[in-house]
Amino acid sequence: MTTKRVFIGRTPEGEKFYLETEVQQKEEYRTSINHEPLESFTTLSMSGVLISKYGSIARDGNWISCGQNLENLKRVRDFRDSDYRGSVSELVSIWERWHLNDLKAKCAHQNPATSWDECEPCSASGYRAGSAWLVEEIPSEVLNRVYELGLIHTGDYARVVMERVATSHPLSEAQA
Ligand SMILES: [Zn+2]
Repeated sequence: MTTKRVFIGRTPEGEKFYLETEVQQKEEYRTSINHEPLESFTTLSMSGVLISKYGSIARDGNWISCGQNLENLKRVRDFRDSDYRGSVSELVSIWERWHLNDLKAKCAHQNPATSWDECEPCSASGYRAGSAWLVEEIPSEVLNRVYELGLIHTGDYARVVMERVATSHPLSEAQA
């Protein structure tokens, strides 16, 4: 699995924004946000790179920011590919919603608005927020959309889809 870097476009100041996305199918014993045991799950990781107007992606010295810089993606106005013009809000929402989906401190029953250290234990399971990294499995339609948007390599997508089918986990059984 490799990170795919996509040039999204330029800001009004001419800065260049790149989006980096990686999917992986991990084989680990973990627990889902619904307290189901998992042996295999898909992870999505996204980050951005903003480069100065005359800078190059190959030379780190021209990097203005990188990492969780969603605010820079929202500033892009001049799109390399017209497909992305209408998709920025979707890119931002996928990024905000699914980045590090295997590092959730709270379960599905705990208030997302409360900070993890002030959260009451889960009323269904007694789970204490922050006591584990829970997994929120990525739905197939989200994975498919990430691929349709050209954000991940075809080979990685194909492999993850194949491994998701091959590994039986509660989500795929529920969908079947
Ligand atoms: Zn719970």
